[in-house]
Amino acid sequence: MATCTASVPNLDTSGDNLYAPRICWQPFIDWAWEAFDFDKGDWDDGFGYDQVCDNTRPLCRTLSGIWCLTYSSPNFPSESYSSNILEWGCRFARNAIDELDARCGSGAFIAYTWWGPIIDNRTELYLTYFYGWGVSMRAGTLIHEARHADGKGHDSGNNDSSWGYNGAWRWEVCWLAWFAAAGTSTSVAMRTQATQRANNIINSNFDTHPGFNV
Ligand SMILES: [Zn+2]
Repeated sequence: MATCTASVPNLDTSGDNLYAPRICWQPFIDWAWEAFDFDKGDWDDGFGYDQVCDNTRPLCRTLSGIWCLTYSSPNFPSESYSSNILEWGCRFARNAIDELDARCGSGAFIAYTWWGPIIDNRTELYLTYFYGWGVSMRAGTLIHEARHADGKGHDSGNNDSSWGYNGAWRWEVCWLAWFAAAGTSTSVAMRTQATQRANNIINSNFDTHPGFNV
């Protein structure tokens, strides 16, 4: 793809064999394409524009994350902001994120969001996002990046200073925790990965440990 290559981890473990048949549905693809402002030029050249149902490609794997973000609430299609983040997460993310772009990236970077006046607002997703994470963790990353796109950065390097800062790491933990507890149409493996990821974040991405685990 493009100028990068990646090996594809086990498709059952990552959830891609569970979710890919769901995203392989033209009305969903059309909706997600508009809602998150995908562009052909950011997703062709090996990223999957011409192979949208191929769950070894970044586009399919990203759409699976969006499907998980959209349909995991037991109250869907309600997306009320008076409920929890599992219910309104997708609504927030698609409104906050300006556009989603596929890139090779470098090193351990998962994703990066630019926001602010004048500059080109966008969220780039990298190889670690496509191949290092299961489907539920991809959904959690979209919430994280949406928090940035809404204008809230990290306040301590790549960390948040505290739970009370109410930053992207907290939002990601909250979505993952709600998904693990109440997510529907998913698997035990996806819930387990979400719990583990939430705890990893709690233990390493806050300068002051929040004082609990999921
Ligand atoms: Zn971040």
